[in-house]
Amino acid sequence: MKKSGFRPSAWVFSLSLLLGAAGQPREQNPPFTLTPDQSEALARISAGSMRGHLSFIASDALEGRDTPSAGLEIAAEYIAAQFRRSGLEPAGDDGYFQSSRWTMISPNPKNFRFTLTDSGKTLDIPASKFSMLGIGAASLDRVAVVKIPFEEHSLRVTGAVEGKAVITELPATAQEPPAASQVSRRRQEFINRVAALRPAAIVGIDRGERRDSGYFSSRAVRHPQFVGLVSVPAPPLRITVDDASVNAAFDAMAPGDTHATISLNLSAPLTQEAVLRNVIGLLQGSDPVLKDSYILLSAHYDHLGTRPQLEGDNIWNGANDNGSGTVSVIEIASALATLRERPRRSIAFVAFFGEEHGLLGSRFYAKHPVFPLEKTAAAINLEQVGRTDSPEGDQHGKARITGFDYSEVSKVIRAAGEQAGISVYKDGETSDDYFSRSDNQALADVGIPSHTLCVAFDYPDYHRPTDHWDKIDYENMARTDRMVALALLMLAQDADPPRWNANNPRAARYLKAREEKHPETQR
Ligand SMILES: [Zn+2]
Repeated sequence: MKKSGFRPSAWVFSLSLLLGAAGQPREQNPPFTLTPDQSEALARISAGSMRGHLSFIASDALEGRDTPSAGLEIAAEYIAAQFRRSGLEPAGDDGYFQSSRWTMISPNPKNFRFTLTDSGKTLDIPASKFSMLGIGAASLDRVAVVKIPFEEHSLRVTGAVEGKAVITELPATAQEPPAASQVSRRRQEFINRVAALRPAAIVGIDRGERRDSGYFSSRAVRHPQFVGLVSVPAPPLRITVDDASVNAAFDAMAPGDTHATISLNLSAPLTQEAVLRNVIGLLQGSDPVLKDSYILLSAHYDHLGTRPQLEGDNIWNGANDNGSGTVSVIEIASALATLRERPRRSIAFVAFFGEEHGLLGSRFYAKHPVFPLEKTAAAINLEQVGRTDSPEGDQHGKARITGFDYSEVSKVIRAAGEQAGISVYKDGETSDDYFSRSDNQALADVGIPSHTLCVAFDYPDYHRPTDHWDKIDYENMARTDRMVALALLMLAQDADPPRWNANNPRAARYLKAREEKHPETQR
């Protein structure tokens, strides 16, 4: 970044222009003039420092930071330690931690039995070959089996399926997109059509040749304030099996009613209490009035954990998703904490748990905000800011923002990008569609103008065990983060908070949420 010379009057000058320009379209604002103090702070954002942080956060020792897990807890402690080192104020209920109690549930293998009885012969399906949608108790007692081949055209006229078990074969899901999503869509559509016939169960033969379905090692979290996170088994039970003897029995059956029956016994799930923690540090603002308002910088620090049933590399390290966002929050916080003159508004740095399980940490925050929602002026959420190698092409010097046209925050980031040499753009494919895909959504739902900033959503190791820290482009990430830090300063210095775009119908619900909280902030 170009270093500005020492000009004592520069800051006062640009500030008066900013204030004078309030209410004008932001494109007409003059470039934000950095003080030497601010330039120095931004220059501290270091590729090497982030490389160090990420080699730990995404190490195998943290076992993919599943929610909940010991690895996630270690990551939380590490983030808190870095906030402490930077001198941020602890802003949680327990130091830097905002803690919440959850119940972890998992399928219960005790007394599990799933059988198919055909021609007087009973086949016992081992637990490792069984999978079902949802976690909870379920039972079926000698339910008659109807065979319906996949996408069978006569399905529409098949009667008398109600209360029975439909057995069918599901086509193998392809490994690579877009074929993978096409197959899973076809599977889903067919299952929905069968479900409309109100059977008691749908048993899908899924010849995937997996060693273990992983069902009994799957887990979910539950919280009384967040219903619907875990699907509870309900008719029709959606079962898949991959067992040689059942496959052979299926092949021998003729379509339509059969003489076979199935039975299932699945006990109530195992439960365990878990404490999950957001990590929150605060850089107090300096303006007597504006310091009571906040700009948030966030990233989720969890990922997908491990799959012990798989051979080989079975740790989902999540270096780019979202170790990159996590270490960026750490690094930007550390840089801005060195400012001798604090920004006018306060800046809060937040690491969320449980994003991969459905925005759990950010939804919890939105229900239990540490900083008043009506006093939270804007939020920038970071996702996958570390990889420049994408099937879409080289992503050096580029950053995209979800919900680009939803609020004025993206204009501020774009202006910061112009100064920092990063092209901040609207990606037509993902701008609106991916708005709901990260924690910015939870904050938007409570009215905070918030967006996710990302370098590339699509990269070769996305949601794979090979998302490793040595594949990150640290120099580009540091450049991107200097721009993010600049955008934070611009937002924190401006007395006029960014607004939701009243002309965009897609932003209407967020604007409404904002107005309910704080009518004066929107015009
Ligand atoms: Zn992510």
